[in-house]
Amino acid sequence: MNEQIENLFKENNVPKFRLKQLQHAIYKDLITDFEQITTFPKWLKDKIKAANIPLTTMELIESHRSGNTVKFVLKTHDGHFIESVLIEHKDERKTVCVSCQVFCAVGCKFCATGANSYKRNLTTDEITEQVLFVSRYLKHQDARVTNIVYMGMGEPFLTYKPVEESVKLLNSPDYFNIGARHIVVSTSGIVPRIYDYAEIGIQAKLAISLHAPNQKLRSELMPINDRYPLADLMKACDYFVEKTGKRISYEYVLIGGINDQIEQAKELVDLLIDRKSHVNLLVYNPHEFADYKMPLEKDVIAFRNYLQTRGIEVTIRKSMGDDISGACGQLSGKQLEEKNKGPVFAQKEYFDGDLEKK
Ligand code: SF4
Repeated sequence: MNEQIENLFKENNVPKFRLKQLQHAIYKDLITDFEQITTFPKWLKDKIKAANIPLTTMELIESHRSGNTVKFVLKTHDGHFIESVLIEHKDERKTVCVSCQVFCAVGCKFCATGANSYKRNLTTDEITEQVLFVSRYLKHQDARVTNIVYMGMGEPFLTYKPVEESVKLLNSPDYFNIGARHIVVSTSGIVPRIYDYAEIGIQAKLAISLHAPNQKLRSELMPINDRYPLADLMKACDYFVEKTGKRISYEYVLIGGINDQIEQAKELVDLLIDRKSHVNLLVYNPHEFADYKMPLEKDVIAFRNYLQTRGIEVTIRKSMGDDISGACGQLSGKQLEEKNKGPVFAQKEYFDGDLEKK
């Protein structure tokens, strides 16, 4: 809730129930102006107007649709640009992919963000407002956000408090009322925060950006693996499953000739066979900031089939909206680079939730 409003309410002895009414107006009625609050008396609206308080901390700059994907570019109060992605599935689901940092400090080798300078963490408000802007957009179609994935810019577990708070607000009936089981936080493997997240107290899900089945290869692709080795990561994952009973999604970007061969598929089976897991195979999308190749289609299928025939639940995720740089983060790469006067964000694990059947 807007701190300025809370202070104004206190200074003017506004009764507490007005805050509830305000919450309802913002998150349920999806107002875009305080003037639209039908439950507030005129004098109160005049006070808010006189104080010149903005309804949101961020501003919607532009949105682009391609097929069933819509990207939203938002500007923070201190001039950074971030993005959120809405994926409209064939069924009723509307998934929002949210960002939680301005760029990312983790430095995965296949991700152009890795070469980029991290700017700052987003606040709880900045994370939830992304969903608010998308909710307003969907209001015109008489639809609502049903699913959230923390797979946009940034590493959620390096900005843990705002992420935890935002997950709870997104789930809260007083705010967005999104089912906890429809909220997925994805991490590159910040081990201590996996233990914290296991204690969050609601049924939100966890995804791990795995991308390699052994310590050596994972460290080559993801230097964070030196800090939090694969064995420790898997131990933390086991704890999460034991504590929550929830299956974990493992994201695995297939990179041509690097981690997409049967040898790695075998290792992946060994790693996950006794674990409550689901593997999402993603096809690497080449970009100018890393010297990696897209995998061959036959290798992707062989990899998937190897896992499947050995009892691993696996899905090939298809990138949507590539013509508008639809994979999470790519709009940042091509367009936010200029706006942020910083380096690009060009490859991120993405999510579309649709099974690509082959
Ligand atoms: S892949 Fe994800 S965690 Fe790794 S550098 Fe890119 S945004 Fe950060």
